[in-house]
Amino acid sequence: MSAVEDYLLAHIEEGIEDLKAFCRIPSVSTDPAFHGGIREAAAFLADRLRRAGFPTVEVLETAGHPAVFAELIRDPAAPTVLVYGHYDVQPPDPLDKWLTPAFEPTIRDDRIYGRGVSDDKGPLLIPVLVAEAYLKTEGRLPLNIKFLVEGEEESGSPNFEPLLATHRDRLACDLVLSADGAMWRPDLPSVTVASRGQVALEVTVTGPSKDLHSGRHGGSAQNPIRALVQMLGAMHDAEGRVIVAGFKDGAKPPDPRIIAAIEAAQFDAETYYRSIGSPKPDPITDGRELLTRQWLEPTLEFNGISGGYQGAGGKTVIPSTASAKISCRLVAGQTPAEVTAAIASHLEARLPKGFAVSVMQRGPGSQAFFIDPDLPALAQAEAVLGELLGQKPLRVAMGATIPIGAAFRKHLEVEAIFFSFSTADEDYHAPNEFFRLSSFRTGLVAWARLLDRLAKPAH
Ligand SMILES: [Zn+2]
Repeated sequence: MSAVEDYLLAHIEEGIEDLKAFCRIPSVSTDPAFHGGIREAAAFLADRLRRAGFPTVEVLETAGHPAVFAELIRDPAAPTVLVYGHYDVQPPDPLDKWLTPAFEPTIRDDRIYGRGVSDDKGPLLIPVLVAEAYLKTEGRLPLNIKFLVEGEEESGSPNFEPLLATHRDRLACDLVLSADGAMWRPDLPSVTVASRGQVALEVTVTGPSKDLHSGRHGGSAQNPIRALVQMLGAMHDAEGRVIVAGFKDGAKPPDPRIIAAIEAAQFDAETYYRSIGSPKPDPITDGRELLTRQWLEPTLEFNGISGGYQGAGGKTVIPSTASAKISCRLVAGQTPAEVTAAIASHLEARLPKGFAVSVMQRGPGSQAFFIDPDLPALAQAEAVLGELLGQKPLRVAMGATIPIGAAFRKHLEVEAIFFSFSTADEDYHAPNEFFRLSSFRTGLVAWARLLDRLAKPAH
């Protein structure tokens, strides 16, 4: 163990207290009621980076929530790594499902529970603490480090690309290391080399121009909830596959290396369904089928549906409107705009007489992403994980979406490696999100080692 690694583990309790303080701040980016929390989290992070020893720390304004930038140049001739992460979190709802309050981080069984602790505040804090440990023990970093931490990742990063474009020169680097992302399983190290894209939509069907009494008008007036669910019900086949015409246009066949990883994973479907608390749907025959669907096929999911009376008790009403929130995960070759257009055509073609439908795309969406498999830094990251976790990591794809890979490639002309120590089963985006403290410890040592290796010229 190096002096830096010793320092990190000796100060782990302080690191946990920092993480708790960070997670007490309710930085929910999608809900305007939490915007005070957004500002507070950005300020907290900026302050923590300054205390770690970064001489340049700035809160960069965007058209939405600000980003936090930090920079320490050890030597202009040394390589520069840019660390990416996000300080915003998902909404904590449903609140009554949390065993301890979402914004009161609590430790149970070597896990810390709280909204944002795994996605992404815990994994993000790791490189901050590692940089501080280098400065405290060796007086300098192994290479140049910049941080760019956004506050809109959980809202689809609408201002991230403009931010990269505006600050292109200051963000210049040789490699991006993303503290966001997730290891796939707690018992098997993995590096994510591909992720699905996404697009989110909101569909609204309007019938009568005002809400109507369901007795006086029922049977004679049109009901937009009924029209909406009929149209939504025609979007999948009995096996759960999307059958919207044009939805899969342009989709490319999957990378054979990812198919090989699926074979090698020997994924156990029964354990998976137990862990998510859901019965196995019949069309999913085994782990291979499951991973193929998660990693290599596009999806169309209904995230929320509303219309009419939603309060306690009942109300005899025929509503004027009904709406649904939809999100799709895209595979290579699909584009957000074409998917939105295909869904809009599906709805318009099936819209019953007397209704109007509107389809609104939320944010720009993103295309699927693949990392260059021959990138030397990818092999270095795999070597560090192999040493610390005792087995060679698997190269995996990811069902979820991390659009930053493509954005960094486009604007800074660099590759991004996902080096996150969150694990996919940590209930991020759900109640009782947690982060394993064992991952926190491993992550600290791993980042310390990787930064040191990346400083040395590739052999
Ligand atoms: Zn995240």
